[in-house]
Amino acid sequence: MVSRADGGSAPQAYDFVIVGAGSSGCALAARLTESGKHSVLLLEAGGSDRRLWVRVPLGVGKLLNDDRYVWKVNTEPQTELHGNRLYWPSGRILGGSSSVNGLVFVRGHPAKYDEWAAAGCPGWAYADVLPYFKKLEDCSFGDPKVRGRGGPIAVTEVAGGPISDAFVRACGEAGYPRVADYNAYLPDGAAPLQINTRNGLRCSATVGYLEPAMHRPNLHVVTGALATHVVFDGIRASGVGYVVGGQKKEARARREVLLAAGAIRSPQLLELSGIGDADLLRERGIGVVAHLPGVGRNLHDHLMPRITFECNRAVTVNDMLRNPLKLVESVLRYLMFRDGLFATTTLTALAYVRGRASSPYPDIRLQSALISAESRFSTSIKTGIDPFPGFHIGGYFIYPLSRGELHVASRDANEAPKINANYLADPLDREMIVAVLKLARKIASQPALAQLIVRETRPGPKVATDDEVLDYARRTGQTCWHPSGTCKMGNGADAVVDPQLRVRGVAALRVIDHSVVPFLTASNTNVPTIMIAEKGAELVLRAAGASR
Ligand SMILES: Cc1cc2nc3c(=O)[nH]c(=O)nc-3n(C[C@H](O)[C@H](O)[C@H](O)COP(=O)(O)OP(=O)(O)OC[C@H]3O[C@@H](n4cnc5c(N)ncnc54)[C@H](O)[C@@H]3O)c2cc1C
Repeated sequence: MVSRADGGSAPQAYDFVIVGAGSSGCALAARLTESGKHSVLLLEAGGSDRRLWVRVPLGVGKLLNDDRYVWKVNTEPQTELHGNRLYWPSGRILGGSSSVNGLVFVRGHPAKYDEWAAAGCPGWAYADVLPYFKKLEDCSFGDPKVRGRGGPIAVTEVAGGPISDAFVRACGEAGYPRVADYNAYLPDGAAPLQINTRNGLRCSATVGYLEPAMHRPNLHVVTGALATHVVFDGIRASGVGYVVGGQKKEARARREVLLAAGAIRSPQLLELSGIGDADLLRERGIGVVAHLPGVGRNLHDHLMPRITFECNRAVTVNDMLRNPLKLVESVLRYLMFRDGLFATTTLTALAYVRGRASSPYPDIRLQSALISAESRFSTSIKTGIDPFPGFHIGGYFIYPLSRGELHVASRDANEAPKINANYLADPLDREMIVAVLKLARKIASQPALAQLIVRETRPGPKVATDDEVLDYARRTGQTCWHPSGTCKMGNGADAVVDPQLRVRGVAALRVIDHSVVPFLTASNTNVPTIMIAEKGAELVLRAAGASR
């Protein structure tokens, strides 16, 4: 068996077939092949991640509009967002979304994991998952009792600068003091961002997990392979059908099939394979293997509006794009010291604050970024980056209540599912998004930051009342790329997987990725996803050991 990362004819049978080489799939493949006892086929629709702009953090701007690296999908028109369709790119490449994401490293709030356990997911309280958070990271700072050393994913703290330092100081002035390490202790207050880079380069799930495992003879990686369905013998998952190089193939799984295709495409694959709401499947002409009405439902995401500012320091990405000398300086600085603008994805600092006095934990997340633009997908002055020094503060309600759904439109695996995120459907989400923008303004008005600001450029002072602020959020809010919950873990009628991540109603099939979260625990989802994969791998190996 040959490990490789190109297309090719795969041997027929493996112990495990994994679909998707993203944050979770890479971690799973590495852990399941570690002992050498189990053979694994890892199928990935995208291609190699050995690209300059994947590895250099700032390069992410060049990836998100390019379908060589991402699945380009738009939501259905959003009723509460004036009918806007939001662009939802996600990684289609080795490393999945971890190869194209913003690198922000966040574990989440301990109390929220305890809420998972209380909501029908025993084994997922913070004390249960902390060992996996420690195992996955290589953190060069912090308290070793709670931070891990020597794991696959490197963590560094973004170096300070005039705007991010002022943002952290302004948060303190507004009553949200500096938190020493928001991943070690309760995330409450402001801090420079922690990101997953090593030596100034992206440390994705491929870099951390897959590359070191690629030489293993028991791991076979096939790229350019689109999984089309899970194959069943009765109700037992026995393999995966896929297309590579225009050819239809089937791989057998002796033990289990593991879906790690992410929160958009794992539910799509379940539905294409006959697992989902029986009526909906019949309507689409798909034969029913198991009636699981929760598939594709419970969809939630972070909706992020931003306030943009013109500033009086020419230290932002805007300035670098306008001034060739600054560009040369930034490139040289990056090459020599591996820091500066190229060493981050523009994000530099964050704050966790309470939007409601009654909240038992911070429920709003704010972040500063060294760029100001019309859209988060603007990549040049021509496409909307402001032609003057500028930065923005973005933010969102971390625990939204609105729930949407996504489902297959047809039996064609090439057709994207129809996505209705249903943003702002819940009144609390609307109240909180107003609170987010007011808090951003409050922080910007503190002396430390105000002295750097020339003017607020978006929405500007004319947008003042709560109704106007809400309308601005509706018009300009964009995804923060955290689709969640579409194969919910739990024990209720709407649960898709049980707390061992096994798909209910069938055998030998698990979903192990960010679709399983019953609700968001964190402001960012990459590290929680890798934690789920680390724990998921142990559950799979334990079951394999028990069945010997
Ligand atoms: C632009 C962007 C920015 C983000 N920024 C951050 C951030 O700064 N911090 C953070 O914590 N999180 C961030 N996230 C979110 C985070 O990266 C994801 O939540 C996480 O990577 C999800 O992991 P996953 O394994 O569930 O899915 P993914 O990593 O998306 O992996 C799914 C993989 O499955 C493959 N696949 C799907 N369908 C098939 C199929 N049918 N056949 C074969 N292969 C298939 C995909 O190509 C992909 O490689 C961001 C995401 C995006 C898209």
